[in-house]
Amino acid sequence: MIVELVTIGNELLNGQTTDTNSAWMAQQLNLAGIQVSRINSISDSRESILGILEETEARADVVIMTGGLGPTSDDVTKPVLCEFFNTELVFNTEVLKHIESLLAKKSCKINEYNMKQAEVPESAVILHNEAGTAAGLWFEKNKKIFISLPGVPFEMKGLITKRVIPALNKIFSLPVIHARTIITQGIFEAQLAEQLKDFESELPENISLAYLPSPGIVRLRLVIRGDDLKKLVNDIDMQIQKLQHIIPEYIVGFDDDTFESIICEMLSDRSQTLSVAESCTGGTIASMLTAVHGSSKYFKGGIVAYSNEIKKDQLAIEPSLLDRYGAVSKQVVEDMAINTRLLFNTDFSVAVSGIAGPSGGTDEKPVGTTWISVSCKESTVSSQFRFGDNRDRNIKRASVTALNMLRKMIIEQDIIALKGLGL
Ligand code: AMP
Ligand code: MG
Repeated sequence: MIVELVTIGNELLNGQTTDTNSAWMAQQLNLAGIQVSRINSISDSRESILGILEETEARADVVIMTGGLGPTSDDVTKPVLCEFFNTELVFNTEVLKHIESLLAKKSCKINEYNMKQAEVPESAVILHNEAGTAAGLWFEKNKKIFISLPGVPFEMKGLITKRVIPALNKIFSLPVIHARTIITQGIFEAQLAEQLKDFESELPENISLAYLPSPGIVRLRLVIRGDDLKKLVNDIDMQIQKLQHIIPEYIVGFDDDTFESIICEMLSDRSQTLSVAESCTGGTIASMLTAVHGSSKYFKGGIVAYSNEIKKDQLAIEPSLLDRYGAVSKQVVEDMAINTRLLFNTDFSVAVSGIAGPSGGTDEKPVGTTWISVSCKESTVSSQFRFGDNRDRNIKRASVTALNMLRKMIIEQDIIALKGLGL
């Protein structure tokens, strides 16, 4: 089955809106066992829409389009679809009722633009759009399927999950797909690929491995295809166990885990608390942690100690240390961690001080130099890193690296406690 996506909208072509619809649809279709062979983006013009309909009719079995179904003058998809499928717009009372009920919830009166949304191509099957006023449209022509969906991402998403994928599943016998993600930290993509060379070459044909790098983290995505879900789950679990033997020190989580959610779970489970002292990350770590629901259970707070003045006055860093070693040094970051932990009276603390760039570097401490310290009553661990020269990526890498150091310290404390119990 050849599937193509078409996203329609002038805003996609002039860069005002990023085409997130195709990426999301491709992901979901992939998970459902449907591979997309081409993604097209076109303008809101009759010529481009007719052109792509003719092109895709010749190439594909299924075409999924988004955009241009709105009621305003820039939305032309509906009349052009009528032209291509040789049909006309007719008033649909079911769609009108739905529009009226949506508007009533917002205490909004129906107007002529809303009324236009209830006009649909006569030959189309209507895909009920629970979340919005533009109905999805399903056409068939010469055994080919054309689906037109609204561009608004959350409306499109509801229609793809609830209507389109289930319907395609009924028509085509799709393979069963199972996917797992392994999250790694502390190793670059190329080094990881080197370590996994044999693992990759030994993978069965129905399993694929993708490397998905982002600042500080590389996600490994294993996708398996077949027809028996139970067997697929088993087979992929075996591969994950293999990975756990090959790269145990780099695996930090699975699937939708994030460092923030891992730390939240670990510290909440242990009824332990955390505070942070952030210089170059400027509050990013605190922001990541508090984005997780339930973080109030363990996260007490922090200080963005950006200037030396705040480091001295609020975190009691000795001026002589700052003068002698500089703010980006083991001595300073370690005291930042210890003093914050005492000040906030927490079990753990994290401190970061670095040169995020693009300026501020020296020969001795180039841009990207970052000291990170994690501290608990029993120990304080500090490390120096040389990240790159991009400010944004340095901040992200410093933040995830700091959280990974904290994760390791929490695990180490567990091991020490178990040993203490003679276990
Ligand atoms: P439309 O259905 O063309 O009226 O689109 C409604 C809104 O959805 C637009 O203003 C965009 O903000 C958004 N949108 C449309 N197409 C896309 C797309 N491919 N990716 C992300 N957002 C989109
Ligand atoms: Mg549009």
